[in-house]
Amino acid sequence: MSNIKLGIIGSGQLGSLLCQAAKKLNIKTVVISDDRQGPAQNYSDEFIFTEYTNQDKMKEFIEKVDIVTYEFENIPIEILKRIDKEKRVIPKPEINQIIQNRKLEKKFINDLGIKTTEWAFVKSFEDIKKNKNLLPGILKINTLGYDGHGQFVLNSLADVKKDWLFSSDYILEKKVNLNKEISIIISRFNKNEFYTYEPIENVHIDQILKRSKIPAVISNEIYKKAQANAKLIADKLEYIGTMCVEYFIDQNNNLLVNEIAPRVHNSGHLTINAFNLSQFDNHVRAVCGLSIEKIEKIANAEMENVLGKEIEVYRNKSFSDKEFFFDYKKKVIKEKRKMGHLTTLKE
Ligand code: ADP
Ligand code: MG
Repeated sequence: MSNIKLGIIGSGQLGSLLCQAAKKLNIKTVVISDDRQGPAQNYSDEFIFTEYTNQDKMKEFIEKVDIVTYEFENIPIEILKRIDKEKRVIPKPEINQIIQNRKLEKKFINDLGIKTTEWAFVKSFEDIKKNKNLLPGILKINTLGYDGHGQFVLNSLADVKKDWLFSSDYILEKKVNLNKEISIIISRFNKNEFYTYEPIENVHIDQILKRSKIPAVISNEIYKKAQANAKLIADKLEYIGTMCVEYFIDQNNNLLVNEIAPRVHNSGHLTINAFNLSQFDNHVRAVCGLSIEKIEKIANAEMENVLGKEIEVYRNKSFSDKEFFFDYKKKVIKEKRKMGHLTTLKE
């Protein structure tokens, strides 16, 4: 059906699921990763293990592929730009440049007239003192954070550790009194061709996603606004592919953007079983320039992340025909590491 070779940067579960979606379309995949054991090599046609700074290996990767996409946003921007000179990187590197930097990301969203949490860019204890109206708050490393890494809860100024050198930049965000968290997955092919999945309701424990479900129990107004904001963000970015907008809903029913993920997203895993075309199918189709197909919901669903040692129990379980267990086949079990997920279809 197609002779496209898709390059994927990163070899975790998102990469694995992208490779599986590509396979269904006869699209060949080449995964490049700095994780020798990355599970996506079980599903890709080719796997290149290397540090991303290795010029020779990168050249080899570029020569092998037609288009490049990525499963995580924390790739040094120079590397994306270098690849993009020879083979198109989609979503384009400029998008990544904004989103991998919390300050630029929040400013971009606020400039669209969309609310985020209240925040300030901070570089020192003095800066935090000046913004103590944001306490209790969360200090987040400005770049390269994920799954709560690089985040510190600050209830008061006393929680700022004396020995912090502030070698990195941070943003300080006011802690939101959460009513709930939702996310929107949107797959955009071009300005007029896109699909916005319905809002997904998410539960995080210790800053890591634990559970997602559809339908989200929210008002019609929030449903519409969450989708419209995601469309506006995607349009402004001229985004191609699947992206996610994570939202907070506070106790006064304000809808606030938490963050954007310029990629397929954990909260969208239930789309694999609950829709005829998943976030992964649509990402591959969009970045490879295929047409948008009619997207339909099959059922309501719940998804549970399997973290750390929980995987041992799941590996020995049997499942009903409404339950879909995904084992990411990670060789090493680590506490809180995402090891798999279970999607259950509901009435
Ligand atoms: P990451 O980039 O690691 O995904 P997030 O900024 O999305 O980090 O934070 C992870 C989770 O931590 C959120 O989904 C939410 O549950 C909690 N959290 C983060 N920031 C705030 C905040 N300002 N107020 C309340 N909860 C927060
Ligand atoms: Mg997040």
